Amino acid sequence: MVLELSKIVRCISTDGLVMAAAIDSTDIVKEAARVHHTTPVMTSALGRLLTGASIMGSMLKEEKASMTIRIKGEGPAGALIAVAESNGNVRGYAENPGLLIMPDENKNLNVRGAVGSKGVLSVIKDFGSGEPYVGQIPLASGEIAEDLAYYYGISEQIPTVFALGVNFDEKWNFSRAGGCFIQLLPAADEREILKVEECIKHIKPITQMLAEGFKTEEICRAVLPDFELEVLDEFEVEYHCPCSLDRVYRSLATLSSEDIETLAGEDGYAEVCCHFCDAVYNINQEELNALAEAKRNEKLKVTNDGWNAD
Ligand SMILES: [Zn+2]
Repeated sequence: MVLELSKIVRCISTDGLVMAAAIDSTDIVKEAARVHHTTPVMTSALGRLLTGASIMGSMLKEEKASMTIRIKGEGPAGALIAVAESNGNVRGYAENPGLLIMPDENKNLNVRGAVGSKGVLSVIKDFGSGEPYVGQIPLASGEIAEDLAYYYGISEQIPTVFALGVNFDEKWNFSRAGGCFIQLLPAADEREILKVEECIKHIKPITQMLAEGFKTEEICRAVLPDFELEVLDEFEVEYHCPCSLDRVYRSLATLSSEDIETLAGEDGYAEVCCHFCDAVYNINQEELNALAEAKRNEKLKVTNDGWNAD
């Protein structure tokens, strides 16, 4: 079997007023479900967020930039976190991946019920240098797509539409995922807003289009039939975690020297587990002592990107 990587295509209207992007994120969501053992409703919630985040990351202009999106609603799903790089690669996790919510009588998964319709969406944009941008807005719906669109509308004053979908077969095995994104560019006015609104009234579910064999470029054209689009670029994206022992060390440096020295369990090792990919790093007492010493001498650079030591 040929391994198909997820793919993003980005288009712009020939009049330069509207931008569209579409992603087939099947491979990304499949990997997230495999790593995190998510139930269908959580595959759906996390899958939608990862799909949207991948597109959002790919919109960052700086090469080393990344974007962390955290959705924390009042629902039983707990926090959902996605980190996207500017190349569109993405990783993430959910606080409660095993949450069981049965589908309704129409076989719809209640993502809003899992996430909660009230809560907070926060975004950290790290540009690779200088101060990161931090934004926070209330959740608009708990359905994820509306929430991400609302973020652009409120925090960046850019009218934006997201459609995100995660699909399952009859037996609730994950089958495919995808999304599309429409954004008005600064020169657009009321006429384009109305035109886009008219287009999106007729959008078919993205996963249905993927099932019908639409390529990502064809999805962009299908969601904006009233615009003439030209392809800006097309690239593969994947679920990717850049964790490494070096990152673990830097992350442990957020603790005090005394805490670092006493981290090891009875077996003589501190076990550090990556939230994003489940990689486990075992650090022995000698290495912990060296880390504590480096911390005392302020030779360790402190970063904290989602690590837990126990
Ligand atoms: Zn990792």
